[in-house]
Amino acid sequence: MQSLPREYNFLEIERKWQRKWEEMGIYRFDWTDKKRPVFTIDTPPPYPSGDFHMGNVLNWTYFDMVARYRRMRGYNVLFPQGWDCHGLSIEVQVEKQHNLRKREVPPDQFRKWCEEIVEKYIAIMKEGVVRLGCSVDWTTEYRTMNSDYWRRTQLSFILLHKKGFMYQGTHPVNWCPRCETAIADAEVDYEKRQGILNYVRFPLEDSNEHLLIATSRPEFIPACVAVAVNPTDERFSKFIGRKIEVPLVNRLVSIIADEGVDPAFGTGTMMICTYGDKEDVKTVMRHKLPVISLLTENGRITDVGGKYARLSIAKAREAIVQDLSATGLMEKSEKLSQEVGVCDRCKAHVEVLERKQWFMKTMAMTEKVEKTADEVVWYPDYMKTRLVDWAKSLDWDWVISRQRVFGTPIPLWYCKNCGEMLLAKEEWVPIDPKLENPRSGKCLKCGGKEFVPERDVFDTWMDSSITCAVHAGWPDRKDWRRLFPADVHPSGIDIIRTWAYYLMVRHLALFDETPYKSCLINGMVLGSDGRKMSKSLKNYVAAPEVINKYGTDATRQWAAGGGATGSDIPFRWPDVEYGKRFLVKLWNVSGFAGKLLADYEPHKMEHGELQLLDKWILSKIARLAKTVTAALEKCQFNIAIEEIRNFTWHVFCDCYVEAAKDRLYRPQTYTEEKRRAAQYALHEVLLRVLQLLAPVTPHVTEEIYQTLFSESFGCKSLQLSPWPKLDEFLDEKAESQGDLVISVISEVRREKAEKHLPLNTQVKKLTIYACDEERVDALREGSSDIAGTCKVEKIEVLACKGDGRPISQGSDVRFVAGY
Ligand SMILES: [Zn+2]
Ligand SMILES: [Zn+2]
Repeated sequence: MQSLPREYNFLEIERKWQRKWEEMGIYRFDWTDKKRPVFTIDTPPPYPSGDFHMGNVLNWTYFDMVARYRRMRGYNVLFPQGWDCHGLSIEVQVEKQHNLRKREVPPDQFRKWCEEIVEKYIAIMKEGVVRLGCSVDWTTEYRTMNSDYWRRTQLSFILLHKKGFMYQGTHPVNWCPRCETAIADAEVDYEKRQGILNYVRFPLEDSNEHLLIATSRPEFIPACVAVAVNPTDERFSKFIGRKIEVPLVNRLVSIIADEGVDPAFGTGTMMICTYGDKEDVKTVMRHKLPVISLLTENGRITDVGGKYARLSIAKAREAIVQDLSATGLMEKSEKLSQEVGVCDRCKAHVEVLERKQWFMKTMAMTEKVEKTADEVVWYPDYMKTRLVDWAKSLDWDWVISRQRVFGTPIPLWYCKNCGEMLLAKEEWVPIDPKLENPRSGKCLKCGGKEFVPERDVFDTWMDSSITCAVHAGWPDRKDWRRLFPADVHPSGIDIIRTWAYYLMVRHLALFDETPYKSCLINGMVLGSDGRKMSKSLKNYVAAPEVINKYGTDATRQWAAGGGATGSDIPFRWPDVEYGKRFLVKLWNVSGFAGKLLADYEPHKMEHGELQLLDKWILSKIARLAKTVTAALEKCQFNIAIEEIRNFTWHVFCDCYVEAAKDRLYRPQTYTEEKRRAAQYALHEVLLRVLQLLAPVTPHVTEEIYQTLFSESFGCKSLQLSPWPKLDEFLDEKAESQGDLVISVISEVRREKAEKHLPLNTQVKKLTIYACDEERVDALREGSSDIAGTCKVEKIEVLACKGDGRPISQGSDVRFVAGY
């Protein structure tokens, strides 16, 4: 048996095993193995952002603990890793870097620039995943921007189009005027912003009266198509049906009744514009009102804005407010604090525009989503409602087209002659319709031979919401269904509404089956101030800083133990420090055990003559294995790590090792059988602790295992060793008796400490009194371990009531120690 060095050099050990594991190939999924059960993790491919932060550390530690645990449980685990490349933020960065807009250069050039940034960012993030010790199968690595992935995204679109799930329609969409693209509901963030509420007079037709309307968006007055009041509002119900004049543009519109108007907001009257916000969209639809398109795609006023045409939204607002004041129609204005929808990439105010877009029919699937969500196991359970509530809250179908350059092309064309749409055939993909004509050559309707390509690309979620099937090998592997649905889809709480939802609707529509059997949710990482960790809040801690200082295994303990699964986890340096201290303790006790086990031959599997404390610690480790297994089955990582650390530190190191030391150190005073029993228990318990810890702290446990155990245990990696099931050690009686013996030892040591005596001070005579028979038996059985640990020359256990120090408050077990 080799021995461990004194120093725990975590940086060297961690790097070494990350390299060796990859060389050994032990994390590769075995596609040829048909024996072991499979376990698939639907690793969400992240947007390459160029930063592997503590939030990523939390996510990937969760994925990895599941992967490692399942591997040890005997599963053939698929832990893939891909990159979701077509981020809108990448386009924004390229535009900034080159100081131009995406339309000003050929799309190929623009794409190339995007790809360069993405590759640079992937390298950084990949290094982060590797340094975190994640047991990813790197042979599965993929990029959604590669044509082979396009093929899958495009194929899924063609199939869904054929099934009737895809349609093109003119519909109001969320629009970012800065990014000049439609964006999905999920890409709209909400921010509190300071606005101004303007009170504007709208003159009633044929009357000297007017209605006062409060609006925070006076620039939309030229697009006003109606004025709405609540029919139950007695102040205004008499005006319903009458006409009213829109100021500045002098157009007459109707006063309509709409129950959506809040009589308590503003003046209780509302102007309906196309479109000031999403509420307007609903009202316009309800009353079938006309649409006036006031905004261009880059956020300027169109010609229907008359004298305000071509002004930016902000300039138009200024001019209109000025004109209203000049004509005496502005009664007053006041400050208003409001929630506004902003683009989650560039923070520009999101507008609502009518535009031709591609949609996927998702609204019609809500009931199915709800039913399927019920069948999925959620960790923690209450997260299910987040998905269901989101699905129910959606106002329109999923807009899947984007007016962007860096994205998977939508594989279709339009006939130049008759406008007929021509969808690519399944065998044509991957294809970019901007570079290639349909291979069938002519329009099916008119025979025309000239085509206009679809210039829009897919929303990135179209790429990343088919991963459950893609990871399983769809569409190329015949046996992909073996790995589908995924056993677990891990996801952040903030992306349930996107990732978990889109995965669900895409796969349900494509395959009529849930994409994942369970969903594991992690919370957000909070800074030390309790707010979500972010660079802008100055509560940000970079992951490499933490790992360099305390090591990966200590950092992973923070992720596992920082809080209940699904809850937000605060980042606290002391948590990581504690993790590191624990590992130093584990390292030291392992080094110590290594010396005591130097002459032990475990392959003989002889356990010698087990003493009470040996049986006690073996039963305790068996119980720990049960608890940890149950916790990991439910993804309760914090319970697992807490239990293991408490056991290792306070039960194994502080109690058992201390008590068994004497038997191990001084063979001459004990029989060989008793010494062998202590070696057996020490060997068994330490090995099992390493196994239970292996999913959380893989590097240090592997290093100790390889040094002390691998030769005799036989597995080439601790990570491939079978998960411990130790029920044969369970022994309730030994546990309660052992607890009693340990209490006596602790109390004698406490007494020495109180008397300021060194712990190895000899006790000339120790008399222990106990009343009931069972306790007396236990104490007699444990007396040699008590004597050895407490350095007692003569020990006696008397079956009677006696005076002396009780081992705990009110206990009838008492002792008198003579020094
Ligand atoms: Zn934007
Ligand atoms: Zn045609």
